Amino acid sequence: MPKNSRYAIANWKMNPPTLSEAAGIYTKLRTKAAKLRKTHTVVCPPFLYVPSILKLKGGEHISVGAQTGRPEDAGSMTGEVSLSMLSHAGVSSVILGHSERRKMGETDEYISKQIDRALTLGLTPIVCVGEKIHDAEGKFLHELTAQMKATFAKVPNKQASKLIIAYEPVWAIGTGTPMPAQTIYEMTIFVKKVVSDLFGHDQGARIPVLYGGSVNAKNIEEIMKVGKCDGVLVGKESLNPISFAAIMEAVDTI
Ligand code: PEP
Repeated sequence: MPKNSRYAIANWKMNPPTLSEAAGIYTKLRTKAAKLRKTHTVVCPPFLYVPSILKLKGGEHISVGAQTGRPEDAGSMTGEVSLSMLSHAGVSSVILGHSERRKMGETDEYISKQIDRALTLGLTPIVCVGEKIHDAEGKFLHELTAQMKATFAKVPNKQASKLIIAYEPVWAIGTGTPMPAQTIYEMTIFVKKVVSDLFGHDQGARIPVLYGGSVNAKNIEEIMKVGKCDGVLVGKESLNPISFAAIMEAVDTI
């Protein structure tokens, strides 16, 4: 995946219901992505659609990612897909540590193994971090710092610049109400500070920090203008090609 200054990531989760719908959305996003100057678009479909979507290509402006993957290359793990299989299939990045996966049992330690394996395979890890509750006393800052330390425990300093971080306050995902843009700005700075502390300023400063949580075509302008993040990770609205194209445009131009 090329290193860009901005990223628009589409997390389709377990959607859309058919492959033909998925192909239709991807084709529209592919056309939009080709017109952007500094933004790389990543579409993360369900596993089953990945090979077909990969065939639709789209040049250097858009690529296909996965939504998770096992760190083991093969084994007796019914229903699972390995990062190695995804890499061989042609996937170039993978969302890791999404709160919906964490809720299904993926721990910081497991995610750190996934990141380690993804980096070895040359897959770009798009790592989700974020607090469950945003308490007024600021305890969530400790929760977030501890989560990041544990999640990135296996990343050597010299590999850190290959990461993309998606800061996703869990309480803002899928609610229709994002974190206020000014708070996104403060949290983007906080996340950048934590990665600089972990990996050193030179490496830390090169890691893109995206925002995720109820981004849509209406709020994206303020999120980019005031939040000053390096892009966004979008769930629901990434399945609407008109909305997501508007989000991609704003990510690229604001
Ligand atoms: C997500 O699932 O990571 C996400 C940001 O979802 P939504 O945009 O629907 O809040």
